[in-house]
Amino acid sequence: MNLTDKIGVLADAAKYDASCSTAGSARKNAPGGLGNGAVGGICHAWAADGRCVALLKVLLSNACAYDCAYCVNRRSNDVRRASFEPEELVRLIVDFYRRNYIEGVFLSSGVIGCPDATMERLLAVARTLRTRERFNGYIHLKIIPGASERLTLEAARWADRVSVNIELPSAASLARVAPDKKPQAIFGPMRVLAAASGFEAPRLAAPRQAPAAALGSGGAPGAALPERRSGSDTPGKADDSAAPPGEAWPMPVPAGKASPAGGAARRSPSPMMDSQATQALPSVWEARKTRARNPEAPLIPAGQTTQMVVGASPESDASILTLAENLYLAYDVRRVYYSAFVPTGSDPRLPAVNAPPLAREHRLYQADWLFRFYGFKASEILDPTRPFLDSRLDPKSDWALRHLEFFPIELETAEYGELLRVPGIGPISAAKIVKARRQSPLRAAALPKLGVVARRAKWFITVGGKLPDTGVPERGPWMLDNPDALRGELLDPAFRAEPSAQPELPWENAR
Ligand code: SF4
Repeated sequence: MNLTDKIGVLADAAKYDASCSTAGSARKNAPGGLGNGAVGGICHAWAADGRCVALLKVLLSNACAYDCAYCVNRRSNDVRRASFEPEELVRLIVDFYRRNYIEGVFLSSGVIGCPDATMERLLAVARTLRTRERFNGYIHLKIIPGASERLTLEAARWADRVSVNIELPSAASLARVAPDKKPQAIFGPMRVLAAASGFEAPRLAAPRQAPAAALGSGGAPGAALPERRSGSDTPGKADDSAAPPGEAWPMPVPAGKASPAGGAARRSPSPMMDSQATQALPSVWEARKTRARNPEAPLIPAGQTTQMVVGASPESDASILTLAENLYLAYDVRRVYYSAFVPTGSDPRLPAVNAPPLAREHRLYQADWLFRFYGFKASEILDPTRPFLDSRLDPKSDWALRHLEFFPIELETAEYGELLRVPGIGPISAAKIVKARRQSPLRAAALPKLGVVARRAKWFITVGGKLPDTGVPERGPWMLDNPDALRGELLDPAFRAEPSAQPELPWENAR
């Protein structure tokens, strides 16, 4: 097989990893058109400093000793196989870089024999690039589950970002769908990486019930994957003692007293927001503002990420979001990627679906955004009585409809965190509101200039004590007393009779 063929096979095999934004696209070029979203190879990712970089996204090998049912590269799948020699891939990367095709590389691999043998080959590429070739471009390295602590730390030394994929949201599903991967083979390297990046974990609370069981996992046959275990929390040391499925996992709590998001709970008598479990943990947003970091641990500047396959197992959105929240809090994971399960054949271990659940994936990304930038907690977004996100409504509007007692919010006086609870107001527009009102009284008509999506926000706010003009006089301003009608106004355009007159905020459509 020549080099061009290898690139074709191994770039295509890498496209299912959601860590790069082109994953999952099915759009091909048309006659006379430009570009092709369905071809793997070069994709774009955001670097830690905010730059958008072009990456060569490729596998070292798609010959895999493991048999994960959801994966096109699984041992039992009859696909064309190819492998690069490390030196071959180094030359390719350097050549592409010199031609200005790429600014970095996203490098993963099937399991060649065993995890450590595979890591050695991946590291040979990264090490050679950094030392012999003096390559200072961006490197994202995939850590093979089960890799030793030594090799995991070496990956952290050479890479800008590393990732260990969780893949399934519960230990039981992992055992059924990806039987060669064990929870401890995933969480051990994640713990090593968290310590290597200088993350100092918060102290641990007494064990509580496993997240999936606690939230009702929609029929999931087991507990969510484990969190940090007290007593085995040695920084820089892989933990191979993860508890078996069904055992209670300890949860991280902050060193200081947790406070509700921006004072929102002060006004809301919501039982979810006031529950003991919710009060015990900070939101991801709060935890990131106060997280402790060892400044003498400069490894992996862009941190670690992970990916979960959505729809290949029966866990609920509540289970998935709770696990994601725990990963952010306990392992300082920078980003959890949700990858809609792409059916690649019939396997009795998997559900029979015709298409990837992309709408569900999209809602999970929106909920995840609420963790990281809006101060929401998983237990506020979903609960045991509502384990799945509403596909027709964004999660923030859905939360607002269930907490109408919190509204209306007066924009002249609301705290920043309260503003973030208003549908149609995001972090940037909230900051602009806070800044603008210091200079002069706010005017409802000027809100779109501050980035507010007035179509959503107008039902939930007052400005200078007055309700904004809703533009729907026959329904009156107090839609807050009419949640069914309000829900109709907030539905996504695809589910509404009338199209939106105002574009959504960019984040609302972002993955
Ligand atoms: S380890 Fe599993 S997910 Fe990774 S390449 Fe092999 S079969 Fe695919």
